[in-house]
Amino acid sequence: MKMQITENLDVDVDARVWSCHHCGAALGAAEANYKESCLVAARDPEEIWQPHVREEVTFSYHRDWCRIVEFYCPGCGWLIEVEVLPPGHPITHDIELDLDGLREPQKGAH
Ligand SMILES: [Zn+2]
Repeated sequence: MKMQITENLDVDVDARVWSCHHCGAALGAAEANYKESCLVAARDPEEIWQPHVREEVTFSYHRDWCRIVEFYCPGCGWLIEVEVLPPGHPITHDIELDLDGLREPQKGAH
């Protein structure tokens, strides 16, 4: 049984696999971090938010302090998730599902 978890992510609670909501590409084991199965782009924040002034303080994100980390579906290229992280920070594991709990309503229906 496939369930939509975010606007871009589905999980198959029987096969215990993440997949892209848009193309169905598999994105790894549901117990693991789906981001590890995505294409990753770590972008300089100044590509996205231009400095407001060319001074020591720019009122924008400083490239030495953060990266914009984008996760794309390897099947269709859809942007699955975006994080703002300090440079070198490990990728976050933001969703852990109770897969057995998600199956329980179906068990009760039989
Ligand atoms: Zn996709």
